[in-house]
Amino acid sequence: MPVTELEARYRARSLWLDGLAGTLAPRASLPGSTECDVCIVGAGFTGLWTAYYLKTLQPDLRVTVVEREIAGFGPSGRNGGWVSAFIAADPAVYRRSHGADAVLRAERETFGTVAEIGRVASTEAIECGFVHSGQLAVAFSLPQLERLRRSVGAKRGRGLREEDVRLLDLDELRQRVRLQGALGGSFSPHNARVDPARLVRGLAVACERRGVQIYERTPAIAIGPRTVTTTHGTVRADMVVRATEAYTTELPGEGRRFLPLYSLMVATEPLSAAAWDELGWSGHETIADQRHLFFYAQRTLDDRIAIGGRGAPYRLGSPIREDYEQRDEVRDRLVGCIRRHFPGAAQADITHHWGGPLGVPRDWSTSVICDRSAGFAWAGGYAGHGVVAANVSGRTLADLILGRDSDLVSLPWVGHAGRRWEPEPFRYLASRLIISILGSADRHEDATGRRARRTRLVQPFVLGR
Ligand SMILES: Cc1cc2nc3c(=O)[nH]c(=O)nc-3n(C[C@H](O)[C@H](O)[C@H](O)COP(=O)(O)OP(=O)(O)OC[C@H]3O[C@@H](n4cnc5c(N)ncnc54)[C@H](O)[C@@H]3O)c2cc1C
Repeated sequence: MPVTELEARYRARSLWLDGLAGTLAPRASLPGSTECDVCIVGAGFTGLWTAYYLKTLQPDLRVTVVEREIAGFGPSGRNGGWVSAFIAADPAVYRRSHGADAVLRAERETFGTVAEIGRVASTEAIECGFVHSGQLAVAFSLPQLERLRRSVGAKRGRGLREEDVRLLDLDELRQRVRLQGALGGSFSPHNARVDPARLVRGLAVACERRGVQIYERTPAIAIGPRTVTTTHGTVRADMVVRATEAYTTELPGEGRRFLPLYSLMVATEPLSAAAWDELGWSGHETIADQRHLFFYAQRTLDDRIAIGGRGAPYRLGSPIREDYEQRDEVRDRLVGCIRRHFPGAAQADITHHWGGPLGVPRDWSTSVICDRSAGFAWAGGYAGHGVVAANVSGRTLADLILGRDSDLVSLPWVGHAGRRWEPEPFRYLASRLIISILGSADRHEDATGRRARRTRLVQPFVLGR
């Protein structure tokens, strides 16, 4: 495919990739079979953070990254830009395996990771609009308010403090952002707003400055202990790291590792100063509602609203395809949220619609796995919360690979490989059921103002059951 066509394809993957300055022409592909110390497959956040910390800790290590498309092609270059610190897991899963203190320690680690990402962005001069703004959860109905209170209560019950998360009354909320129909909210400082494509692409350059070799347009067809077989040659390494998140399900024998569930986004045109006066939102906090199919939003670096949500059902047989990244009903739902809740943006044009696949494990909980003797490691299963989790995974994998006995290597996701999803068509039916029941529960709650109890039907498939 000519480079101009490739660039157009890459830019079409997200608002953020579209907005990047400079070229998106791929780096060179693997020139033929080779050897190195560590070979990482996948140049998203997991792969690149792993490479970055490995080279920071041991500069003479020979680290090679092979990427099927370009750095940041996957969800790392497409996501909502929430550097959100709440753990990418059902806390109950890790509480069962490691106890309550370990869960609290894991949460404290992810809280600190927000600042760590900001530190590296600043040290490496990555201009990615990082603002350590915090996160607002907003309730737009009584059932949502009830869920919000329960969620804050559960976090406090796990040992988090007032300064970690607290309820806001309507006046406090309105001082931050004036959302139509809001009944109340909560605030946590443990979140930052970022342009994810700028961050991941800048991280790739920072890795190269440290001597990481990145080969693009190099699909791996087999990823195993000490060997990666690609369409351009074989890489032999002391350690192979698989960092392919949802795309892992395309690899032989890995189809049931995750449910590749799509999350989709839309963005408005840049809004006028008058619109921002009406909305407030000068703190750039990330914002989510409390619907079951919740929205997540940010005020972008160039003053748009970028908002996303789940709800695109996956298809049997070929669950990951570029033509699944846009869906009219999800787009309409997200645009409806903008029109209903963000008064200053009610008339704004929608300029972008995009999405990507999440890697959802059966127990909705992250894994970081490293077998040094076999020469194989992987991390992922972030279920849509990977920006912070991938940094933690990268630092942890670097320590595990180098045999460093740090605090990170005893966190509860290390060595945790949850069970696989049910074989088809059960996984397909479960995912359809999840989306349809959660969507109908939201419609019921919006229409009646009363809590929908039908969500109990899908409890066995969500959050670690
Ligand atoms: C629309 C959307 C919004 C989201 N919003 C947020 C958010 O706001 N905050 C948050 O924390 N998380 C969010 N997420 C999730 C987050 O983006 C991911 O969890 C995270 O980016 C995963 O990073 P990764 O490096 O593990 O995987 P990826 O970003 O998927 O990277 C994997 C890379 O591997 C490459 N690859 C795959 N197969 C092969 C192969 N065979 N050979 C070579 N290369 C291969 C891919 O091309 C890709 O570049 C969102 C996701 C989506 C889709």
